Amino acid sequence: MFPSKKLSNILTSILLMLGLMMTITSCQNWVPQQLTSTFGARTPNSTQDQSDTRLYLILDIDWTLVSPLENHQVSDFIGDQRLLKVGKEHYLLKEGARELLEMTFSHPEIEVSFFSGGTKKRNLELLKEITLEDGKSALDKSYKVLSKEDLTVISKDESLRFSERFKKDISKVHPDLKKVLLVEDLAHFALGDGVNQTLWLGKTFYPPLPYMSYQDSYQKWQDLGVDTRYLAPSKEADWWARRKLFVLQALLEESRDPQEILRQATQFDFSGVEPPMAVHQMLDRAPLYQRFIERMPCAIPL
Ligand SMILES: [Mg+2]
Repeated sequence: MFPSKKLSNILTSILLMLGLMMTITSCQNWVPQQLTSTFGARTPNSTQDQSDTRLYLILDIDWTLVSPLENHQVSDFIGDQRLLKVGKEHYLLKEGARELLEMTFSHPEIEVSFFSGGTKKRNLELLKEITLEDGKSALDKSYKVLSKEDLTVISKDESLRFSERFKKDISKVHPDLKKVLLVEDLAHFALGDGVNQTLWLGKTFYPPLPYMSYQDSYQKWQDLGVDTRYLAPSKEADWWARRKLFVLQALLEESRDPQEILRQATQFDFSGVEPPMAVHQMLDRAPLYQRFIERMPCAIPL
């Protein structure tokens, strides 16, 4: 009995020690996990932002991505894949808009939002109409959609222009404005410091009518009642206006830092009407633009 009792005591001691060690080990594992988790949740925003290298791109809609058309201006675009019908309204996707969306939506370091002065209902419907190569819509892929209801009222003076009474607070997309880039056809639509994060596309014009020379298209738009202020003043100006989204796309391929993109954009003079020479060199070495040109059914650039 004695040897077996002694053996039993030794075994009990070993089991007790193992149990104690397992408890200590599991406590060691458990406590830091709990603390890490709790501290992680309480990490200040500034620390979290350092690991977030994403660019928060905000695209305006009207005259930035689409040209709104009156019903009597639609007939020349029937059958054109760029034509969008939203309720009773029509819009034409601007050249490069679809390519810009495809590229930015598929980029892991870019979050794409939309901020438009249109109503939420209209914006959601319009973005739903923009379908991409994988069958999903721009609405499906957007990070945030902000609308008229999200604008900040800064004046109730109705004699002022819409963009002087209402402003886009881009911090609603991301609080750190240094990570945000707003692309706009209106230079001062952003609230406060958001203006410094705005890439202004300069003057925008009605699109050329399909299968027409520049002169014939210009004349027909006038016949359709469009003020000449909204028509490209020259063939070169028309060409440059229709390349700006491609240049933006090329800039986004090279950098995700809004400050760097804005600095580069000044070299290309986005606000200018005539195309700067640097644009040709830029587009010549932009792979996505080259692929776009290759896919075109005819040799004549749009
Ligand atoms: Mg606009």
